[in-house]
Amino acid sequence: MSAIITDPNRLTIHEAHELLKTRQISSVELTRTCLERIQQVEPKVSALVTVTNELALSQAEKADELIASGDLSPLTGIPVLIKDNMCTKGVRTTCSSKMLENFIPPYDATVVEKLNEAGAVTIGKANMDEFAMGSSTENSALFPTHNPWDLERVPGGSSGGPAVGVAASEAIYALGSDTGGSIRQPAGFCSVTGMKPTYGRVSRYGLVAFVSSLDQIGPLTRDVTDCALVLNTIAGYDPRDSTSVPYPVPDYTQCLATGLDGIRIGVPKEYFVEGRQAEVAAAIRAAISKLEELGARVDWEVSLPHTPYALAAYYMIVPSEASANLARYDGVKYGFSYPETDNMWEALEKTRQYGFGPEVKRRIMLGTYALSAGYYDAWYLKAQKVRTLIRQEFDQAFEKFDALITPTSPTVPFRIGDKVDDPLQMYLSDVCTLPINIAGVPAISIPAGFAEGLPIGMQIIGKPFSEETILKIAYAFEQATDWHKQKPNI
Ligand code: GLN
Repeated sequence: MSAIITDPNRLTIHEAHELLKTRQISSVELTRTCLERIQQVEPKVSALVTVTNELALSQAEKADELIASGDLSPLTGIPVLIKDNMCTKGVRTTCSSKMLENFIPPYDATVVEKLNEAGAVTIGKANMDEFAMGSSTENSALFPTHNPWDLERVPGGSSGGPAVGVAASEAIYALGSDTGGSIRQPAGFCSVTGMKPTYGRVSRYGLVAFVSSLDQIGPLTRDVTDCALVLNTIAGYDPRDSTSVPYPVPDYTQCLATGLDGIRIGVPKEYFVEGRQAEVAAAIRAAISKLEELGARVDWEVSLPHTPYALAAYYMIVPSEASANLARYDGVKYGFSYPETDNMWEALEKTRQYGFGPEVKRRIMLGTYALSAGYYDAWYLKAQKVRTLIRQEFDQAFEKFDALITPTSPTVPFRIGDKVDDPLQMYLSDVCTLPINIAGVPAISIPAGFAEGLPIGMQIIGKPFSEETILKIAYAFEQATDWHKQKPNI
């Protein structure tokens, strides 16, 4: 086995692909290396709900056959982690909730189907905040996940498990979902690359619904090239998701090295206001200066005046849609069912009482209230109007700029336990990411520095379906810096 394999920390998808193609390693060897690594670090980080040993090894064997016949794609034979809210046929899909603790889907999500067609190796299902509601993975009803950069700190959420899996080298890449920041915020907290594509770019079919008008699946990877490779595979129209968009999928790797000449970048000042950690703001300003050196034209004084209303609008729209989506957990169709009664109403009530955790219940109650007759216009409808204003504001900004850049999070990762009892503080940790979901535009978070040994993420936001532009900006920065090469010592 090649020397590079003994240090799986270093392998990206494109490096692993070269090794597989030139037969310096087999997919079975690569998969075993990851499985061993999982055994070693999982007791410390708790990133995985399920490890799919047998499935992974049988997929790896098949991948090796494909490779031997010369029929391989960039993801063939490479181990991936799937967030536990994407349906995997025959493999438990819990959403990190008691409600779905024993749910085994009879079908694959479209993204999983696409990975399987590409010959990927599914190595496990990763932990998350229950039903993707949270910013720290502490809301998992199963167990919390720890940040590999400091085990006392949160990895971010709700895709904490997938981000940690990539950062701690349990797998080479992962899929997460992002409703208000759940890919980008944990990517920033764990110093990996994470992208939320444009709403409609990637099929949501088979993703357990949280907020259908905001949810989007995307990659968590070790570098920008890998992000482009995964997006190549998962993007595209899907007749089973009526919100997926029938635009052709470009080869996202083609744009990466095309340079920053003529690129116009705006820096919205509302993302650098009081309450944001000074070291984080300083690191992002330094990163933007680097892009300026690399040829981008930067306007440092852009204003998006509706930004302060995004959080309030988000936390009105999100519970409203979630309360409707989660009505399906009634103890009858699937999932947990309270057994000790033959009274239908009692069964329904107790199923939801014991099946859902506190954050899920909080949102169902808030949403039910906001949607009720007499309150709908005052709360939900008003939030939808604010949403339109925020969208328009982004549209206007993108008439002048190719991309907007902000910190991914207002702070570095916080301590486990610090915010669990204060939902409002927890909500604030997505203040930089959730406006992007409201606008439906794409954004990527890439490693951009450290403060006291803790990661800082930079968020690059683009106009709808301009993933190529934000990838190329991210790539130029990555080539000029070493942040993404630093690995946690675990
Ligand atoms: N933290 C945000 C929330 O709790 C975002 C979650 C997400 O993107 N899934 O809603």
